[in-house]
Amino acid sequence: MSDKPEKLITDDGLRLDGRHADEIRPMKIEIGVLSRADGSCYLEWGRNKVLVGVFGPREAHPRRSQRADTAVIRYKYNMASFSVEDRARPGPSRRSIEISKVSREAFEPVIMAELFPKTAIDIFVEVLQADAGTRTAAINASSIALADAGIPMKGLVTSCAFGKVDGQIVLDLNKEEDNHGEADFPVAMTQDGEITLLQMDGNLTPDEIRKGFELAKKGCKEILEIQQAVLRKKFETPVEEPEAGV
Ligand code: UDP
Repeated sequence: MSDKPEKLITDDGLRLDGRHADEIRPMKIEIGVLSRADGSCYLEWGRNKVLVGVFGPREAHPRRSQRADTAVIRYKYNMASFSVEDRARPGPSRRSIEISKVSREAFEPVIMAELFPKTAIDIFVEVLQADAGTRTAAINASSIALADAGIPMKGLVTSCAFGKVDGQIVLDLNKEEDNHGEADFPVAMTQDGEITLLQMDGNLTPDEIRKGFELAKKGCKEILEIQQAVLRKKFETPVEEPEAGV
């Protein structure tokens, strides 16, 4: 781990990467990048790079995993060994199993799984480069990949963390802030603002949590706009103007 810088927030109130407390890192999304997946997305968020492939609904195997009344949703978060500074050990870890579980649960309220009994919907996440906030980046990318796969959903899910750095509540922590900050609080929500993921690492007072939530809502709103723009660009068919006199 790098040494803690003297200050993570400078005297003019900016963070070390030049952001204000309420700013998210720049986000770039590409949709439909994997030809063998039913839906896919590549997302860069600051220095995070994640790739998501969605498969299904398809017959669930093994058969005993099938449910007669609904599709089973499976979410697999994997961190490539080269994605972090110190090589990540390949294969599942306690951390990746936990992230997979909470991320799957973040989507369960929106995916209309009951329409596809006996099937599975698989969401595979590969983190190619990590700089804190990979679970939130992966959820944002998965939302797009699910939409790209045509999976019926009640809406998109967006995700963003807030935390405490040098005693200040800030949005979307980068690695340095995550390592040396006092708290990290990832949140995911539906388009209607229903919370579907909530985790806390560190300590915050109720007032700090309230303040952080306001930031997270703002961040998620901005991300939703980026997601919607990407989906509109891919799926919206331009309405043809009728020719004059027809
Ligand atoms: N990290 C790492 N090695 C690991 C796990 C995490 O270097 O085995 C780094 C990585 O940059 C990650 C960050 O620590 O993004 C924060 O990890 P955390 O568990 O808080 O999850 P995240 O913020 O990525 O969702």
